[in-house]
Amino acid sequence: MKEFDVTIIGLGPTGGTLANLIALSGFSVLILEREKSYYNLPRAVHFDDEIMRVFQTIGITKDFLKHTIINKGTKFVNSKGRIVLDWPRPRKITDNGWYPSYRFHQPDLERQLRKQLKKYNKVKIQYNSKVNRIKNYNDYVKVYFSNTKLNSFQEVKSKYLIGCDGANSVTRNEMKTKMNNLGFTQRWAVIDLILKKNKKNLPDRTIQYSNPKQPATYCRNVGKRRRWEFAIKKKQSEKTILSEKYIWNFLKPWLQKKEAYLERKTIYTFKSAISRNWINGRIFIAGDAAHLMPPFMGQGMCAGIRDASNLAWKIAKCLKNKHDEKFLRSYQSERFTNVKEYVETTMRMGEFVNAAESIEITNNISSGSDGTKSMQSIKPVLGKGLGDNNDINRGKIFPQLKLKNGKTLDDMFSCSPILILSSELKNKKKLSKIATINDKDVLGLATLLKSYKSKAIIVRPDRFILQSCKSVKSFDKFIKYFNKF
Ligand SMILES: Cc1cc2nc3c(=O)[nH]c(=O)nc-3n(C[C@H](O)[C@H](O)[C@H](O)COP(=O)(O)OP(=O)(O)OC[C@H]3O[C@@H](n4cnc5c(N)ncnc54)[C@H](O)[C@@H]3O)c2cc1C
Repeated sequence: MKEFDVTIIGLGPTGGTLANLIALSGFSVLILEREKSYYNLPRAVHFDDEIMRVFQTIGITKDFLKHTIINKGTKFVNSKGRIVLDWPRPRKITDNGWYPSYRFHQPDLERQLRKQLKKYNKVKIQYNSKVNRIKNYNDYVKVYFSNTKLNSFQEVKSKYLIGCDGANSVTRNEMKTKMNNLGFTQRWAVIDLILKKNKKNLPDRTIQYSNPKQPATYCRNVGKRRRWEFAIKKKQSEKTILSEKYIWNFLKPWLQKKEAYLERKTIYTFKSAISRNWINGRIFIAGDAAHLMPPFMGQGMCAGIRDASNLAWKIAKCLKNKHDEKFLRSYQSERFTNVKEYVETTMRMGEFVNAAESIEITNNISSGSDGTKSMQSIKPVLGKGLGDNNDINRGKIFPQLKLKNGKTLDDMFSCSPILILSSELKNKKKLSKIATINDKDVLGLATLLKSYKSKAIIVRPDRFILQSCKSVKSFDKFIKYFNKF
């Protein structure tokens, strides 16, 4: 029987990112994908700076950037056409080293992730492979799958298995865990169009129409792609809603039939749910298999990519050293609270779009003199897990510093941990088993460390802070602990 370090079920954005990150650490990966190719129709259209940073680690940004545009933000408009809330995404590079928000076409990303995987000879992608059963053993996992083309059955062994197999995850079922429903269930129509010619009077931002009669969303997507989404009332029939007559009548205020190609019309039930367990022995779930949220914030796929980034280095560390169940359990505890905050904020945004204008989407909203309100993006930290949970810096994402040699932190240290040292500790560099940088390498490092009230910081391979060290005196103990880690 063939054996791999890791088996991944499902080659969507979560599986594709995870496979790239594990392959980057030099381990063998088998990906089992039910379909014969990627899903060629639009779904996700937005991602943020944190996610672009993960794409940078994988090495796809140079090519993929050509398929993206910088997102200008979202305006919420009430039934009288008045802007009631603004969510600007300033055209300014963030601490993550990228613009705050991008628009893209999901199939372009999936193609790019697959192209990058071809560079690794230890990665095997098996299409037309539908996983039916998974079995956990002490030291390995066995997966049973069928080839849907040849009607044959196979089994494979691996040290770890991650189900990135979407909302109806077979992995989650095999783990015998359930989704906790967080309360949002609504049917929405999603209409994707490609303009025949550019149309200047269409908004350049996302517009959320908070109108009780017809809650709706307009998305300015890449190139000539545009999307409209609208809520469907309980009694409305899906057949009527998806008829060309209904759709073009709905689009009348913005667009005429002769001006665009209708690429896709479909109905989704937007849900909010999180799986109770994400880990069972050597089996894990990630992405939509672990959580679902409505698309109002454009964060569903982003959450899956955050899962991949959190889990990849932990699995690589266990493959390199030894299996450590407690260490791996931090994957669920760290990701759960983070994703829950996104799901709950998205639900409040959904309620706002459903015209309950009084809902506070976040507590980060300020009022302007003209009566409009402005919202800032949320940046949830990691839930409890690795490091000292009382450390105020632990679990925050560390900025992608520009080094004096012209490179960035992430380019220099791809997927390894880094110790950031203040000048007072530069003689202690030799005590550390991990790569270090100090103010010889980075301009303004002393000021940055001061803002963290720290003398040293350990940054994890996924760029979150593992722990900070407050004083020169406590450094020896601090580094001794993490050298063993
Ligand atoms: C209308 C809409 C708009 C959205 N907009 C955004 C957005 O702007 N930003 C954002 O971040 N997110 C958005 N999302 C969410 C995003 O599309 C999903 O979160 C994302 O696709 C999930 O990725 P995944 O890899 O976890 O799962 P999936 O993309 O569902 O991939 C799962 C893969 O597993 C395979 N698979 C399933 N079962 C098996 C099996 N038994 N054996 C083998 N293979 C299997 C499937 O074929 C598939 O390829 C949107 C979603 C919708 C519906």
